[in-house]
Amino acid sequence: MIFALIGNQNSGKTTLFNALTGANQHVGNFPGVTVEQKVGEVKNVKDCKVVDLPGLYSIRAYSEEEIITRDFIFNQKPDGIINIVDATNLERNLYLTLQLITLKIPTVVLLNMMDEVRESGGSINVEKLSNQLGVPVIPISAIKNEGISEAVSTAINVAKNKILPKKVDFCDYGPVHRCIHSVIHIIEDHADNLNVAKRFVATKLIEGESQYADMLGLNTNERELIEHNVIEMETESGLDRNSAIADMRYTFIEKLCKDCVIKGENNKKSVKSQKIDKVLTNKFFAIPIFVLIMAGVFSLTFQFLGVWLQELLDLGITFISDVTLNFLRSNNVNYRICAFLEEGVFGGVGAVISLLPYIVLLFLFLSLLEDSGYMARIAFIMDKPLRKIGLSGRSFVSILMGFGCSVPAVMSTRTLTSKRDKKLTILMIPFISCSVKALVYTAVVSCGLFSPLMQILIILFLYAFGIILGVLNVAIASKTLFKGNPIPFVMELPNYRMPSLKSVAILMWEKASDFIKKAFSVIFIATLIIWVLNSYDIRLNFTENPSESLLGEIGNLLAPIFYPVTGSNDGRIVASLIAGFAAKEAVISTLSLLGATNIIDILPTIPSVLGFLTFVLLYTPCVATISALKRELKSGYKTLLIVIY
Ligand code: GDP
Ligand code: MG
Repeated sequence: MIFALIGNQNSGKTTLFNALTGANQHVGNFPGVTVEQKVGEVKNVKDCKVVDLPGLYSIRAYSEEEIITRDFIFNQKPDGIINIVDATNLERNLYLTLQLITLKIPTVVLLNMMDEVRESGGSINVEKLSNQLGVPVIPISAIKNEGISEAVSTAINVAKNKILPKKVDFCDYGPVHRCIHSVIHIIEDHADNLNVAKRFVATKLIEGESQYADMLGLNTNERELIEHNVIEMETESGLDRNSAIADMRYTFIEKLCKDCVIKGENNKKSVKSQKIDKVLTNKFFAIPIFVLIMAGVFSLTFQFLGVWLQELLDLGITFISDVTLNFLRSNNVNYRICAFLEEGVFGGVGAVISLLPYIVLLFLFLSLLEDSGYMARIAFIMDKPLRKIGLSGRSFVSILMGFGCSVPAVMSTRTLTSKRDKKLTILMIPFISCSVKALVYTAVVSCGLFSPLMQILIILFLYAFGIILGVLNVAIASKTLFKGNPIPFVMELPNYRMPSLKSVAILMWEKASDFIKKAFSVIFIATLIIWVLNSYDIRLNFTENPSESLLGEIGNLLAPIFYPVTGSNDGRIVASLIAGFAAKEAVISTLSLLGATNIIDILPTIPSVLGFLTFVLLYTPCVATISALKRELKSGYKTLLIVIY
């Protein structure tokens, strides 16, 4: 059996998915975190799967995430729908529910976040709600694991016995009611032939979604008849077609909520959130506060905490390296193997591993910002300034993710409804210093040429320079290549929450293990290749003289091209930058493999360091990002243009 998990954004679908399957998908206090569908087996139940889908407010097909969810419903035909609704916000959440239950698919409604409803002193008459909606309704708290087993057994029961929603009609009289009936009458035969839900399709046809007319294969006559009915409804009700349908749904929901919901005296969370927002989204202080917070995050990550943790880890790696090498040497293991271990593995891969604390810290802070609900405010605050360059606040979400890693950032542009906004945002992301680029900066500026203050200033400069260039590019592109206006920005501001320790811990663990895996796969292979190239000459003889090695030869060949970057003809710079194409970490491992431990040997002057780092900031994104770009742009040609540009 397959169940589709459907609900509004931020209603707790992923939290429930994790609770049901024992998976550790990323949960965020942030609309639009899930952009792909994820399938998982329900724990302790045989042959039962759930699919976590992107959130949506209505079954339409405007944005890609809505299309993913809609297509899943129609093409995969799930055995049951688990509609998860945020019980603290029933009025809005039920709007989707009303559409789902016209689909003629067995459905259960789960009232999530009941813990918050209780806390605020409110209550919901679940039985009455269930009767009026005509589907089973189960109160749960996904985060506290309450009511989950009852939810599962009800869902399975409903699906097994094919219990369809009992109520599908939400108005008993009036122009909308009559119109829906006439349209159903017109399409009845077609719908029955295709076995699709008549009422659902009729409503969609009235709302003007013509793809359903194509799906049913309606002829011109029938289409005109429908149009005629709709126009009659519009004149009678005095509302346009979309408003009329929305009005019908909301009237039903309003009455339903009046009957079944007792609002809490004081929703403490939202009162508190509003108070916090008075300060954090204040007209004058919002942006300074944001800048301060980000400055705090970066200096904690790259200076205070990060440096301290890195030194600690470095000590550990040096210790292991010494012990291993001493043991091997005292047992007369082949000296080339020892050299490879020392330079390649402990030097190269070790240099990358020792930077792990920075990555973990940066993601820790980013996820704290996200989980607390602050990130959503930032998108809201930044909407106005972003509009000036032709982007909307929604894009800022993706751009901020880019500070962690470009790959999820590029993927998250899927949530943008307009193609134009999406392309502009994608154009911006490679200019953002991702956490790994920041590692390269950190590794290079700590070479001994700069004081600690200077180090942080250089890193800030690189961040700022990337952002400024990105903004310029977007501003120019939005005036030339992609003319038009960004779409209006609508995003729900979730309440501030204490970040969940578990979800932050999961995210950090994921990032750390990804990073370590990458160090031992991509970086290890890159290091191995570079080591071989550096240790053998053109006749494949082992050589101690780097300038005779294969790498030396290649470097000499290409050095003139790279000369303007650092003002040096050193082939090792070329090698590290080329290796950085595979993954930016490889820049560090290659430098440390080739330049012994001291980067000063390779980049001796301040301008050469700055030139090198600026190049790292701006040159082609890594392979993983390029493939994400290609996926999202759906065009190899455009991706190539970005790489070349
Ligand atoms: P999705 O967008 O529907 O996938 O929602 P998520 O699963 O990412 O959850 C959104 C936010 O709601 C996260 O901050 C969760 O920690 C929080 N959340 C989810 N379920 C509950 C619940 O039962 N009670 C409370 N208080 N918070 C919850
Ligand atoms: Mg989700």
